[in-house]
Amino acid sequence: MTSATIERIETCLVDLPTIRPHKLSVATMYGQTLMLVKIYCSDGVVGIGEGTTIAGMAYGPESPEAMKLAIDTYLGPAMIGKDATRIQALMAHLGKLVKVNHFSKSALETALLDAHGKRLGVSIGELLGGRRRDRLPVAWTLASGDTAKDIAEAEHMLDVRRHKTFKLKIGAKELQADIRHVAEIKKALGDRAAVRVDVNMAWSETQAARAIPALADAGCELIEQPVASAAALARLTRRFPVALMADEILQGPESAFDIARHDGADVFAIKIEQSGGLFAAQRVAAIADAAGIELYGGTMLEGAFSTIASAHLFASFANLQWGTELFGPLLITEEILTQPLDYSDFELTVPKGPGLGIELDEAKVGRFVRDGAMEVTQ
Ligand SMILES: [Mg+2]
Repeated sequence: MTSATIERIETCLVDLPTIRPHKLSVATMYGQTLMLVKIYCSDGVVGIGEGTTIAGMAYGPESPEAMKLAIDTYLGPAMIGKDATRIQALMAHLGKLVKVNHFSKSALETALLDAHGKRLGVSIGELLGGRRRDRLPVAWTLASGDTAKDIAEAEHMLDVRRHKTFKLKIGAKELQADIRHVAEIKKALGDRAAVRVDVNMAWSETQAARAIPALADAGCELIEQPVASAAALARLTRRFPVALMADEILQGPESAFDIARHDGADVFAIKIEQSGGLFAAQRVAAIADAAGIELYGGTMLEGAFSTIASAHLFASFANLQWGTELFGPLLITEEILTQPLDYSDFELTVPKGPGLGIELDEAKVGRFVRDGAMEVTQ
């Protein structure tokens, strides 16, 4: 039996520029901060994990800074000397010591899985039971805030065969302006592309009830988290035939069960960080499958490490009816891997190498580490 203990844990914050401002109903992003964690094991294996949020704390309760603090102060010290190969037992132990903090736990679980995969010479996908697909369709988010710019961006993505499904971030503007924006983009792209929207909880139930039929008429095929309330989303799901998706209200297996029990959504946007890690996200998918809820592979606009951890998990899902939005690394201007990811022919290739199957470019990332420092727990 392979055995290895955890000797040292390092964390750092990496501030990276984005290709353009990314406008959501909750905030506009001008850059992305990754919290990277490295777990050093006694057998010489090092695993890497990532924690990333959308627009600092505008989207949810955790921030990259808070994740770093939670790991440096609480989670990391509790892991030193523990068996690195018993990942689920160790994560359960951490769950007792630290409440919630799903993003921090997801980063640590990813690093442990990366290390264990490297140790055994298999990819994370194989640790999760084996991949069912080698490539994943990837949607792109049009969020420049300008209709003509968004159409030009979509046309470019179609030309270079990178994306043919587009998600529009709406909810910040007046209802009619948003509906016009969606209708104009769908009209310009026609049957060449699918158009979806993400409202990020911006509407009231009555606003949503006015907008949803108009969006469906405009050719929008999926509406993500139009309202904040789970009860309102359930009522809207029953009322309208267009597919409605839960994202922000889906905070792990318990909430997934609750939403499923109330027929609260047609589709789940599964995210490893929001779920509390890969195993928790796997349980969310099982609940969705059992309830007849369809699946979509979501993103927290993560960098390469959480994106590929998610890709390994989504590639193992029995059902993935709505594809994925694993485009996070493409929103960042800097390549932080020694070998870039393969986005081609509208899909992302899931790496085959041990662990995550990707390698951090240390020299490159070093230039973007905040305060030039790594925090070390040992
Ligand atoms: Mg969303």
